Amino acid sequence: MYDTIIIGAGPAGMTAALYAARSNLKVALLERGIYGGQMNNTAEIENYPGYAHISGPELAEKMFEPLENLGVEHLFGQVEKIEDQGEYKRIITEDEVFETKTVILASGANHRHLGVPGEEEYNSRGVSYCAVCDGAFFRDEDLLVVGGGDSAVEEAIFLTRFAKSVTIVHRRDQLRAQKLLQERAFANEKISFIWDSVVKEIKGDDRKVTSVVFENVKTGQSSEADFGGVFVYVGLDPVSDFVKDLGICDEAGWIVTDQHMKTAIDGIYAIGDVRQKDLRQITTAVGDGAVAGQEVYKYITEH
Ligand code: FAD
Ligand code: NAP
Repeated sequence: MYDTIIIGAGPAGMTAALYAARSNLKVALLERGIYGGQMNNTAEIENYPGYAHISGPELAEKMFEPLENLGVEHLFGQVEKIEDQGEYKRIITEDEVFETKTVILASGANHRHLGVPGEEEYNSRGVSYCAVCDGAFFRDEDLLVVGGGDSAVEEAIFLTRFAKSVTIVHRRDQLRAQKLLQERAFANEKISFIWDSVVKEIKGDDRKVTSVVFENVKTGQSSEADFGGVFVYVGLDPVSDFVKDLGICDEAGWIVTDQHMKTAIDGIYAIGDVRQKDLRQITTAVGDGAVAGQEVYKYITEH
């Protein structure tokens, strides 16, 4: 029986593990993939205090290192269901069942898809959701980036290292991204914009993407332009399907907590991007993790 099992080893989960383990609890960190979560998808982190510039995988490694000496157990598996048995919880993966007094949900968020014709067909054949992973395969290509938030603008700037040109298509005439990123994008000679437009179709030949069809949302006019690759950054969906039966999510699937990271169920906490909140960042994920790590210690002591 664990004191706490943390589901997800992104920045939120790793910080919760650090705090809970330093309180001498029996802690396990359960992850389905590699440590670091979404941080592994970005080469440029410039807003994590203490580092003027650090890559995502490097920051992930630095967060992971201290856990090695604190006795945090590392479990591997995809959680499919959680059962609340009152005083303890059962965590069910594909092939194992774990028992724990408390659970910290840190399963983060996933990139959203556009849902247009051609997107799934050309996924990994010109359509990508990760510039850091795939950018280098698109040397000297004309690329399209879809979206107007931090991810779209930051990754468009990153792609200019490889691409001949990068076009950002946004459904409005103003970006949502931080001002600093906007200024960098506007000043970058390789970046241009298509405003007030959405992607209607991604076309290609039998090998890869060749062009994209747009619709101007103000005029209704259609147009088509040639691109060698399409990077989609249109926001995030919560990774919370495995707790949907517990009644702790809002309509969109974000998990609702109080300021102590407590959900509506005693002994179940949620932290980081999967939580209903305004600002989804590494700093806020880490802050949530610290609070939850401390809260489970109080819970175990009181019970
Ligand atoms: P995540 O990082 O999403 O980690 C969740 C983990 O849970 C994953 O490892 C996943 O595999 C695991 N998991 C999910 N479901 C299960 C399951 N059922 N069973 C087991 N494991 C599971 N933020 C910044 O502050 N600065 C930046 O510069 C920045 N750049 C970014 C660039 C990109 C391209 C992206 C996509 C995001 C960026 N962010 C940035 C946002 C930041 O990465 C996230 O806010 C942060 O990673 C959230 O951390 P988290 O621990 O809550 O979740
Ligand atoms: P986001 O902030 O939700 O932005 C999504 C963008 O996609 C918005 O511009 C949105 O348009 C657009 N969009 C949504 N659905 C669309 C659709 N169906 N078709 C076309 N466009 C669509 O998501 P994000 O940029 O991935 O960022 C997610 C979180 O990670 C944020 O909290 C962000 O701050 C954080 N992050 C931070 C950094 C950093 O600090 N450097 C970098 C990356 C990400 P509207 O603007 O019209 O809504």
